[in-house]
This record gives sequence, structure tokens and C-alpha cells, in this order.
Amino acid sequence: MIKNTLNALFMFAATLLLVSLWIATTAAWGAGGTVTDPTGTAPDRYVYYPGTEPLAKDEIRIVACGTGMPSARRGQAATCFLVETGNGDKFIFDIGSGSMANLASLMIPYQYLDKLFLTHLHTDHMGDLDSLWAGGWTAGRPNALRVWGPSGAREDMGTEYSMENFLRHANWDYMTRAVNISPGPGGIETTEFDYKGVNQVVYQENGVTIRSIPAVHAGDGPVSYILEYAGLKIVVGGDTFPNKWFLEHARNADLVIHEAFTSPDLFVELYNMPPGLAWRACCAFHTSGQAFGKIISTLKPRHAVAYHFLNEEATRYSLYDDIRETYDGPLSMATDLMVWNITKDGIRERMAAVTDEAWSVPGEAIQPGPERGRISEYTKYILDGRWDEGAQPAQKQMLDEFSEKYGLQDQDWRKQMMQQQE
Ligand SMILES: [Zn+2]
Ligand SMILES: [Zn+2]
Repeated sequence: MIKNTLNALFMFAATLLLVSLWIATTAAWGAGGTVTDPTGTAPDRYVYYPGTEPLAKDEIRIVACGTGMPSARRGQAATCFLVETGNGDKFIFDIGSGSMANLASLMIPYQYLDKLFLTHLHTDHMGDLDSLWAGGWTAGRPNALRVWGPSGAREDMGTEYSMENFLRHANWDYMTRAVNISPGPGGIETTEFDYKGVNQVVYQENGVTIRSIPAVHAGDGPVSYILEYAGLKIVVGGDTFPNKWFLEHARNADLVIHEAFTSPDLFVELYNMPPGLAWRACCAFHTSGQAFGKIISTLKPRHAVAYHFLNEEATRYSLYDDIRETYDGPLSMATDLMVWNITKDGIRERMAAVTDEAWSVPGEAIQPGPERGRISEYTKYILDGRWDEGAQPAQKQMLDEFSEKYGLQDQDWRKQMMQQQE
């Protein structure tokens, strides 16, 4: 009770603080975002603080949650772009290895992170599916994860096969959480579509249309996506060699994201890659900097984003130079946690300022409870290993207080557990 009152007081004080900050910053900023008062604040020119900026109805915000390679490192996760639309929808395009930590640092409740679009099934584009799936399940997603992805040339190369077998691979995780949390949110609802479809609608809800086009990358199956909302057009290019579908259907876009690969020279130097493989990797099933520039200068979007390169001091500028040989328009060299706000009036690039400690914060959704009849499967051999005589008295008072606080004394499952323990 006291805690609730304190919480309410705290929330009230926090709201007052935010409102007064807003008034202070509005008053202290000049029209051009200058600081006009020594006690004022600086404009958010460089930084996006997640969770502090409402999205306008006709606005799209994109956050790069991963931009890198299959070989992991702390400073660059593999591919993932979060696209947020002003109607409140959020779409995750790819969930490459390491990207979920960046996505979580944006402090978005998992209930809103339930729509995943896969460009293809390389692990640098889907490797963190496990933490999106199970993390969301344990932290509040009330429904199954929804996944869209392409078919393959064979049944066992498609998204449906991949998701089914992902759940097989995670079966122990599934069975044990399904008992303790609830089975529904642990499901995956897969929508597999024809990878050969050209500009085919794969999603259309609530004013958002997402289409797919084929990509040319490492074998049949990969695609790129085109998202349209509020008269804005965003293209999320998956891995691909420059291709005719992209040139035709990514036209008139506000923002085009396309891969740009580090030069074969640097792959030989830094990865000790055989030159033949470096040549193929860069420039036969990916897109070189020069070819990226050529595509973009042909398409002329309002803004272009290059990603999937070795983003480090020693290498990023050489790729930039490669691109500038063939393109001189607006360009972002995507870095993890780079943010773009897109409206009819302008496109803004900033970096998100996040903390390593942030979780996806809880939302308001309530997960369905455990299913009646589903119980943990222990053998007597394992149950006999419990040290109840030591642990139970030690935690009894704490648990009694907790039960009273939340009214758990009369719950069936608790009685069952107590009986099991006696
Ligand atoms: Zn790939
Ligand atoms: Zn890739």
C-alpha cells in the first residue's frame, strides 16, 4: 500500500519533471536548435534517447540494431533493422546474431516486438531468433511470435521448415516454459511466401503494406522488402548482388537500405580469405561499394543507407570512398544503433544513446496463465534430490509475506506445490 502510494507520487513527480523539462527546453532552444539560455538544455541534434520521443502519425523511425557479419564481435551485431510506424506498429527486419541486445536496449515492451520479417535464412540474419522468441515469452509477449519469410527452391530450404525445426531444436526449452508460463506465447506463427514473387504483398494491415521482391544471393530464396506507410516508402534490402527487381521496385523511395560489402582486398588482409573466395563474397553474391553507389545513383532515393560491412576505424572510410566513386547523394554508413526519422519534411540521422543495463521494459499486456493439466515432468529420482528441509524453512517467511501481498494463499497451484513438497 505504502509502496503503491510512493510509486504514484514518484510517477507524478516524474511527469512534472518531464513537463517542466519540456517547457524549459522549448523555451531555451532557439529556432535553429541553438542553446539560448545558460540553464537550458542542448538540442537532441546527435542523440535519440529511446522511449522519450513520441512518433508522429505520419512518421517512420528506423533503428539499426545490427549491421555486421556472421563472425561475432562486441562492437557490431549482425543484421537487424527495427521499423516503427506512426500508427504504433513495429516491424523487425532480420534478427541477426547479437542484435537482440541492441533491440532490447530500446526499452520497447516485447508485446510490440512480435512481427519479424526474414530476408533470408543465413544466421547473420536470424541467429538471435532464440532470444527474441524466449526473451519475449519470459518477459511479457502475450501471443505467439509472428514470422514472415521466403520459401526456398526446396521445401527444406524454406522459412516454414526453418521455424518448425527451430522449435524442435528448442523443444526442451518449449516444454519446460510451456508448463510454467503458458504455451501460447511460445508458439511461432509462420507465414511463408513465394521467394519468386515480384512486388507481392506479404503483409497489409492497419495502413501498412509490405511487399517482397527476389534477391540474388548465395542460392534461391533470399528477398528484399518494401514497406509503405503514410505516403512514405522504405526499402529494406536483404543480402543480394545488384538485381533488376531492386532497380525496378525500389524507385521513388524515401529511404533505401542496401548492403555494401567491404572490398575483397580487405577480406584477404583481415580475414586471411583466399582471394578467390574474397572476390566471390564481396562481388558475386554481395554488392561492392562501387556497385552499391551505382544502384543508388540510378534509383536516387531521398536517402541511402549502406550496411553489412566491416565497420571499424581501419576499414569504414575505404568503403565510403568506394561508394563515392559512383554516388554523391545523401548517405549513411550504418552503425549499430543509428536512427533515422523519416517524414515528408525531412530525414534525420542520429545515434541512439542506450545503456547496457536496459531490458525491454514491461508493457501492459497480460499473458495467459499456465494450462491446467500441464505439469513439470520430474522423475522421483530427481525430486528426491530436493533439499526441502533446509531451503523451505529458510524461505518460508519471505514466501508467506509474498503470498499474502499478492493473495496467492488460496491458489490451486500453490497448494499442489506445498503438498508435493510435504
Ligand atoms: Zn546472407
Ligand atoms: Zn548477411
